[in-house]
Amino acid sequence: MELRPEEISSIIKEQIKRYEKTLEMVDIGTVIQVGDAIARIHGLEGCMAGELIEFPGEVFGMVMNLEEDNVGCVLLGSDENIREGDTVKRTGRIIEVPVGDAMMGRVVNALGQPIDGKGAIATSKFSPIEKIAPGVITRKSVSEPLQTGIKAIDSIVPIGRGQRELIIGDRQTGKTALAIDTILNQKGEDVICIYVAIGQKRSTVAQIVDTLEKRGAMDYTIIVSATASELAPLQYIAPYTGVTIAEEFMDNGKDVLIVYDDLSKHAIAYRAMSLLLRRPPGREAFPGDVFYLHSRLLERAAKLDDKYGGGSITALPIIETLAGDITAYIPTNVISITDGQIFLETDLFFAGQRPAINTGLSVSRVGGSAQIKAMKKVAGRIKLELAQYRELAAFAQFGSELDKETKERLDQGERMLQILKQPQYSPVSVEHQVIIIYAVLNKHLADIPVAKISAFEKEFLKFVDNNYPDIVQSIKTSKDLTDDNIERIKQALGEFKKNF
Ligand code: ATP
Ligand code: MG
Repeated sequence: MELRPEEISSIIKEQIKRYEKTLEMVDIGTVIQVGDAIARIHGLEGCMAGELIEFPGEVFGMVMNLEEDNVGCVLLGSDENIREGDTVKRTGRIIEVPVGDAMMGRVVNALGQPIDGKGAIATSKFSPIEKIAPGVITRKSVSEPLQTGIKAIDSIVPIGRGQRELIIGDRQTGKTALAIDTILNQKGEDVICIYVAIGQKRSTVAQIVDTLEKRGAMDYTIIVSATASELAPLQYIAPYTGVTIAEEFMDNGKDVLIVYDDLSKHAIAYRAMSLLLRRPPGREAFPGDVFYLHSRLLERAAKLDDKYGGGSITALPIIETLAGDITAYIPTNVISITDGQIFLETDLFFAGQRPAINTGLSVSRVGGSAQIKAMKKVAGRIKLELAQYRELAAFAQFGSELDKETKERLDQGERMLQILKQPQYSPVSVEHQVIIIYAVLNKHLADIPVAKISAFEKEFLKFVDNNYPDIVQSIKTSKDLTDDNIERIKQALGEFKKNF
């Protein structure tokens, strides 16, 4: 960049004063321009990219651009009292956030400072927010399931510990609801949950904290919040703060689930910063390194090998699309980085199919290896049968007369869709999922009217718990569905249907 004389008057005066000496500023610098949460600084010749620098009045900045004759940085506080000519100091550190058990149950901002009014966080351990992701040697392939408690996910697009599964869909399609339900389902599962809110309304975040608190999920959850009203640089670092807190737990052998809600707004915050820093805009005005922005974040999710403690970070990034367009820049980027996506659709949502998961477009590339054997046995066919049903249903709209077999298939498909419906805040245990999916796939619900399927499911599972507790127990311990179990399920179905 070219330096304009009026911007650097103080520096020029300084240089004239000491005309003979060459001016070299390594650890300090002077502000030459400030505004829009961005500052340009002359000097600071020794500073590193990403380094934290200190302005007068305890305002900090993060160095983003290292240019030939100046340094561009973003401010992490208000720029109100910063003036041209102010002195800036290097700190030699990059941003660090508090980590450790003391974070549990807390709501913090992007810098890890508490904002829940519960006092200071009692930890002396800090960790830098930018770290290199675990290497190939330390990793292990994903093998353990992370049960979301949502039937449509656990059966069709299973998620494993250490996996990165994208939740993608238009606005108001239940994206956040899926993530929150998954957090609720981790109760008693020994999984630490971190919810990172980026660019959302304060009221939405407050509501989420309230929901989690009421349902007893805050005991094992940490919330990192950078709301829409906060500076773009804070929204930019929030997910890195979240994953840094998660890494500390993973390194101690724990399993962590982290939700980034949402990365579209994260990319937008980064775009705003980059444009203000005058980095060249590319496609959709995003800077060229926007892919790296998300890849270096999501690569930090991992399943560690047992030799390294065996911990894991499972990441559920969320992306908001416009009119279902998953081919826009940011969606395609994130789809290519993650191990699969859960695609939510407005049409399904309004048709009452909630969660509005499009089973055709949703995939999990880790797939079956993240399911218990019992689930693998029953759910293997479900995706195919649903696809066949959709095809038939599309054709059946035209013809009025259907042969018996087609009609049966359509009936069966409708019942499967009914079973995949699920209200909010009501996760279903994997054992119950196995039982009910077994029942519907093997046509045991063919004689139940479609409108009554939901009621049937609810009451039948209650009936099984009361009268056939051995089925659930056996699936839980063996993780398998044996012939004995199947006999008992059939028996239970027969008995229950007599009175339904
Ligand atoms: P936004 O784009 O605003 O972030 P979102 O995609 O995160 O929206 P949610 O806020 O999770 O969507 O959900 C939108 C609405 O749909 C909420 O009012 C929620 O209560 C409702 N909803 C979500 N899932 C279900 C469900 N399974 N059953 C019934 N209602 C649901
Ligand atoms: Mg949401």
